[in-house]
Amino acid sequence: MTQPALDLVIAALEKIREKSDRAPRASRTALARLQAGPVGASLPEACTSRKERRLQAPNKADLLAAVRERVGACTKCAHLACSRTQTVFGVGNPDADLMFIGEAPGADEDHQGEPFVGRAGQLLTRILKAMNFAREDVYIANILKCRPDMPAGSFGNRAPTPTEMQTCRPYLVEQIDIIQPRVLVALGAVAVEGLLGTRAAMRELRGRWHTYNSIPLMITYHPAYLLRNQAPSEKRKVWEDMLQVLERLEKPISERQRNYFM
Ligand code: SF4
Repeated sequence: MTQPALDLVIAALEKIREKSDRAPRASRTALARLQAGPVGASLPEACTSRKERRLQAPNKADLLAAVRERVGACTKCAHLACSRTQTVFGVGNPDADLMFIGEAPGADEDHQGEPFVGRAGQLLTRILKAMNFAREDVYIANILKCRPDMPAGSFGNRAPTPTEMQTCRPYLVEQIDIIQPRVLVALGAVAVEGLLGTRAAMRELRGRWHTYNSIPLMITYHPAYLLRNQAPSEKRKVWEDMLQVLERLEKPISERQRNYFM
C-alpha cells in the first residue's frame, strides 16, 4: 500500500474510533507496523527477510510512547485539561502478559504522574507481590488519563462521568491494542463500565471470565474497596480472582498462595 493511501486509511479509522462505540477492526498497532514495513523499498517484499522486517517494525515501547505524547497534549475534556497537574498515562512492561485497568487518577497519581501510587495503589502492589509479580512485570493503566476535577476547596476524588470515560477510552483501547496482554483485569465497577459499557453490581461481575476483544478479562474489586472493607472474606474474594488469573497465565501456585485469607 502506498504511503498516501495508508495515511488516508489511518485517518478514516481514527475518525471511526472517536465517533463510534465499536473499535475499528484494524488496530493502530497493525497499521503502525504496516506503515513501518518496507513501503517503497527497493527490494521486493519477498526478498526482505523476516528478521529484517522485525527490525523495521516499531516495538511496543515506541508505539506506547507515541500514544503517551498525544495523551500529554490532549485537551478533549477542557475542564480536566485545565485542572490536571499532568496526565497519567500508564506504567509497566509494554510486553506484559497481564494488564490491570483502573478508573482514573486520584490526587496522588495526578501529583506523581503514575497510576496506582496512593494507598489503593500500594495495596495493588502488595497483591501483585503475593502473585509473584513486580509492578514492572505487568502493565497498569486507567480508563481516564486525567484526574476528575473537584470543586474548589473540596478534598478526595470523584468517579469519572460516563462522558469523560467515553472521551478518553480510545487511548486505553490503543494501549491494549499495542500491549496485547494475555489477560486483562478490570478493577471495580467503574473500570468495567468504562471498558465494556456494562453497568452491574460487582457481586454479579467478579469472579468469572469475561472477554474484551477476545482477550480474557477478569473483573475484581478495586483495591480502594478492600481499604474500606477489611473483612478477610472480601480479601479472599479478590485473591480467588487473582488465583484464576494465575491459572490462566499458567503460573505455578504454591500451597501457601492457595491458602491466603482462608
Ligand atoms: S481525560 Fe483523556 S480525553 Fe479527557 S483531556 Fe484527559 S487525556 Fe484527554
